[in-house]
Amino acid sequence: MTAIVALGLCLGWMGSFLFQFSEETINNPVAAAPPPPNILPSVEELYPYVVPPRSTLGNLLREMEISPQVVHQIVEAAKPVNDLGRIKPGTRFQLFYANQKDENSEVTGIKFYFSPIEMLEVHKVDQKWTAQKITEQVETRVMTFSGKVKSSLWESAAEAKMDPNLIADLAEVFAWQMDFSREIQKEDRWRLSVEQKMVKGQPVGWGSILAAEYENATQKFVGILYRTGENQSGYYSPDGTSLRRMFLKSPIRYGRISSRFSTKRFHPILQYNRPHLGVDFAAPIGTPIRAVGDGTIAEAGVRGGAGKMIRIRHNSEYATAYKHLNGFAKGIRSGARVQQGQIIGYVGNTGISTGPHLHFEFFQGGRYVDPLGKKFPSAEPIPANQLAQFKTEVTTHIASLPDWNEDKVGKAEGLPQQGPSSSGL
Ligand SMILES: [Zn+2]
Repeated sequence: MTAIVALGLCLGWMGSFLFQFSEETINNPVAAAPPPPNILPSVEELYPYVVPPRSTLGNLLREMEISPQVVHQIVEAAKPVNDLGRIKPGTRFQLFYANQKDENSEVTGIKFYFSPIEMLEVHKVDQKWTAQKITEQVETRVMTFSGKVKSSLWESAAEAKMDPNLIADLAEVFAWQMDFSREIQKEDRWRLSVEQKMVKGQPVGWGSILAAEYENATQKFVGILYRTGENQSGYYSPDGTSLRRMFLKSPIRYGRISSRFSTKRFHPILQYNRPHLGVDFAAPIGTPIRAVGDGTIAEAGVRGGAGKMIRIRHNSEYATAYKHLNGFAKGIRSGARVQQGQIIGYVGNTGISTGPHLHFEFFQGGRYVDPLGKKFPSAEPIPANQLAQFKTEVTTHIASLPDWNEDKVGKAEGLPQQGPSSSGL
């Protein structure tokens, strides 16, 4: 009991964040004890040999005094499954011997480790070498995290002991609702549930975010993953509308708005009042620029003050332009089709420009409009015949989200909220 109380107090002090390893952690206090020590041998222990850089497996095996004939037999046996001649440097493997304790005895097997899920085993059975691909069974479990922004979204992930890659995934879920490069505020809070892939009880990677919520001073966004068909899935609001919009909120992931849309502005280089008919995003040279919507490249080239620029025609009504680029992404030329989110070019400082930035323009019906002030149409909602099923899943998914930090400290541990806990952080 003491341990549980201590945990409760500890969480109370941390206050502004909370993480959990699984639902059991919260509902079953016993599981809150530290996990048992890892008794499985590490990958390095299991696969002690590594294909060195600028070498080949064949060379390495010969250096290990395995006869060229055996090397040849191994490579030939593996051929139907894997071309060992092209095996990547850095690949780990282990060797098996006729007498496992004697490395001078005959080599009878070799096992390659490609990933926690994929391996290849080549064994000598009855004087014949045979190869077998091994695919580990992957299980998934649901993990939940929640956090509160104190300085940045990344820091809130770190405080929640969450893989930072997942915060990027969270930003992707709400990429149509929020520009995570500029709309993050102190005191914003988020929570999510996500699939974690497990092999033999060990985590090996992340699956999809199942449900997520992001809340700021004025708005709350909820996204629920739903599969509308085979290989078709998306995030939806609990009412079944798609979070996906015709246009992304920002053409660059992380950057700062350095100048807004205005019909009158003093131009820093030209030194006179001149409207600024776009939005500037300050970002380092080379920062990737994304197409905000599906479309066709109408122009990709150099044009006077705009420097290197791209114009995308999205449909008969909408177009966007991206100026002062450092360069174009591969395949970006007039007439090429692009998809929403596709990288089309890189931030630069070409043309008339005071420093590295992206000048982004938005056109509707041929006229300049301010993209920051526009609300764009949604993608298709959940099909009517799936809505009932979706609503059932919404209930489950929302229930799977962790409680907000403050609530949990009181609720899960049955402790009164006191001391320097949940407020004011
Ligand atoms: Zn500009």
